[in-house]
Amino acid sequence: MKKIAVFTSGGDSPGMNACIRAVVRAAIYNQVEVLGIRRGYAGMILGDFVPLDREGVQGIINRGGTILGSARSAEFMTPEGRQKAFEQLQAAGVDGVVVIGGDGSFKGATVFMEEHPEIPFVGIPGTIDNDLYGTDYTLGYDTAINTALEAIDKIRDTAEAYNRLFFVEVMGRDAGFIALRSGIAGGAEAILVPEVETDIPLLIQQIGEYHEKHKHSCIIVVAEGDDAGGAFELAKQVQDKVPYEESRVTVLGHIQRGGTPTCADRVLAAQMGIGAVEALLANKRGIMIGVQHKQVVEVPFEQSTKHNIEISPSLKKVAHILSAI
Ligand code: ATP
Repeated sequence: MKKIAVFTSGGDSPGMNACIRAVVRAAIYNQVEVLGIRRGYAGMILGDFVPLDREGVQGIINRGGTILGSARSAEFMTPEGRQKAFEQLQAAGVDGVVVIGGDGSFKGATVFMEEHPEIPFVGIPGTIDNDLYGTDYTLGYDTAINTALEAIDKIRDTAEAYNRLFFVEVMGRDAGFIALRSGIAGGAEAILVPEVETDIPLLIQQIGEYHEKHKHSCIIVVAEGDDAGGAFELAKQVQDKVPYEESRVTVLGHIQRGGTPTCADRVLAAQMGIGAVEALLANKRGIMIGVQHKQVVEVPFEQSTKHNIEISPSLKKVAHILSAI
């Protein structure tokens, strides 16, 4: 293995830059050259490659986003698109690839390797959703929950001033991990997640009782993928049926994807980046580098791409006791 390529794909997440840096430095440590692929699979098809050396990844460990850009590529979903990508990688002398992305990116890598087994791929789970099997945390998740938490804390300040009811929507189309953690840590009065069916009449009753007893601000944290249909839809169904004089909806949206990665995400990026390079050097392929109980592990793509939407019973209990109004 003389030359590897690294790229970021799918939804961006904080910590991707720290991870690119770790891949590059680990490769250099092992006398391996690195090419960065710009804009995901789309850039791979176009041969949009840039050599990365130590200087090229200087000063990026603390930067959000990804210096390589990310993209979703419809063309890579076709055999013709993947053939073009293969030709570009071969022409550039790439012996192995590190893909930093979510389950879609790993599925793309799997299909590619079935057609072009000459070039092995190893994956790093870069997504804020924490919804991949085989790793305790995905890259960017810790930063995202802390961003959401900071926002919830600020909303609490203003909610208390007027004793308002707030519906705060956080990211999570299929998984409620961001909602659950930021909701527990932010002292939310209720947390609604896609994994648990939402009982609107019960919620209305509980908000009413809470208002009666405490006359206090009330924050409902809702994951975007909850069956209530997100914060705006939930507010429509609830706000006229509860005694709060005023309610507000805040959708945190893309601020959860940005920002300086936390210490935990930077350390994860370093462990995973080094793990990916070492796996390629050991002739491994088709695996995601995860971290379980602080140890770096290798998880086959076919396992890691299954959506992990199992909420820990312990956190469920905490949410039930502390957030059931
Ligand atoms: P996130 O979880 O943040 O959305 P992701 O990696 O799951 O990230 P996707 O858009 O699902 O994001 O996938 C990224 C890219 O991977 C797609 O745009 C496409 O080019 C490629 N890809 C996804 N699934 C396949 C597939 N089954 N076959 C070939 N390529 C795929």
